[in-house]
Amino acid sequence: MLDALPADRVLSAGVIDGRNIWRSQPAHVLPLLEKIVARRGTDGLWLAPSCSLLHTPIDATQETALPPALRSWLAFAQQKLEELRLYADALSGSRTARDALNEQTALLAQRSHALGVQRQDVRARLNALSPQATLRRSELAHRRVVQAEALALPLLPTTTIGSFPQTDALRRARADHRSGQLNNAAYETVLANEIRHVLQQQEAAGLDVLVHGEPERNDMVEYFGEQLDGFAFTRQGWVQSYGSRCVKPPIIWGDVARPAPMTVRWSSYAQSLTDKPVKGMLTGPVTVLQWSFVRDDLPRETVCRQLALALRDEVHDLEHAGIRVIQIDEPALREGLPLRQADQAAYLDWAVQCFRISAGGVGDATQIHTHMCYAEFNAIIDAVAALDADVISIESSRSRMELLEAFERYHYPGDIGPGVYDIHSPRVPASEEIVTLLRSALRVLDPKQLWVNPDCGLKTRGWAEVTPALEAMVAAARALRVELASIPG
Ligand code: GLN
Ligand code: ZN
Repeated sequence: MLDALPADRVLSAGVIDGRNIWRSQPAHVLPLLEKIVARRGTDGLWLAPSCSLLHTPIDATQETALPPALRSWLAFAQQKLEELRLYADALSGSRTARDALNEQTALLAQRSHALGVQRQDVRARLNALSPQATLRRSELAHRRVVQAEALALPLLPTTTIGSFPQTDALRRARADHRSGQLNNAAYETVLANEIRHVLQQQEAAGLDVLVHGEPERNDMVEYFGEQLDGFAFTRQGWVQSYGSRCVKPPIIWGDVARPAPMTVRWSSYAQSLTDKPVKGMLTGPVTVLQWSFVRDDLPRETVCRQLALALRDEVHDLEHAGIRVIQIDEPALREGLPLRQADQAAYLDWAVQCFRISAGGVGDATQIHTHMCYAEFNAIIDAVAALDADVISIESSRSRMELLEAFERYHYPGDIGPGVYDIHSPRVPASEEIVTLLRSALRVLDPKQLWVNPDCGLKTRGWAEVTPALEAMVAAARALRVELASIPG
């Protein structure tokens, strides 16, 4: 590589990882630089991050609420620039720069011994995990029969993807609770009332599998990260997600473990209010990984397995609490796909395994759902099938059910809920439109396989749109049920 570049060209060496948020290891960077200098000298040598600093927040020194040790391991954009300066100065013979880099080496050497970074209990459990852990007790075909009996759902069951409108009142209550203006008891009353309201609305609309509405969740990753060991949260760690949308991902710095159940309380409360099944709602291990800043001292795959085990315990506890349907959302499965084609199969392999570790512990009668929010998934359809979920719901309405082409070629043995209306738009769909979409789905799917649900969660919508949209959805399912019942066989 080094020799390929003519000697008279400038070499901008991307020696610092621009994508992560961690301080670099001088023991890795310095030898690399010395090798470059030995070959080409320092003339025409520039030092740079490996890519634009768009993926890192601005300044780690602002994060005064973080534990000082953790903060000392971090390099956001500002710190990465400082590191580049140090490396450059060290190369030009600066003693102070060398000393500073030695200090950094010493600091990072302590990282692996810091409390919580490497936990024996977590590591031992992961090492002892057998391949059996990724398996359900029986095959999908058998589970379907057991679940049909246990849940007694109608043909074309109707459900939603999890969240219901995050109203201003809810947001205000959460903010007041965070700032201490609303005490725990009062905040929990707000949540309980909201859950009761969400259930009443779903019963009134005539939905078959209900949800609690996720009013307690600010964000589908943050909510879990806040309750898991090994996570930390920044105050200003914003990065661009797409367009003008920014996110503040949590930092996974230590071994991940679940000290206590995370969702059982609100799911059980919701289930106690109705005879219909209430779907437990979890964010899957791959999505939590993908939407966090991940530690650089463990393979991503290992961090994901730790997450998978923590979620497996949650799934088990939900089942134990009487929750018969559990959805494990994996909207980020596809975006984790490595750019290099050669790396894609290995990624999909461990990503699928992690999902299956989370879901693998339950009985046949417990129905596992997963959800993804994009339509073009031909590239990963094998992996989606390999998740071995009983039901998958997928965004589909905007592409007019194009995704069904994938299922035309690939016969999925489980159930599928292609989204029947676009939740990104305030427009309320007419029930006839939904019937049309369902009819096109039925050209490819068996009626016994088809679920009826929106494209995604409803948290960005208002009740004025949600109520009539769900009514239209239920009316469409009912109309088609009547029609299907009159066809013999
Ligand atoms: N259960 C989540 C919700 O309804 C799923 C969100 C997502 O797919 N991004 O909000
Ligand atoms: Zn979604």
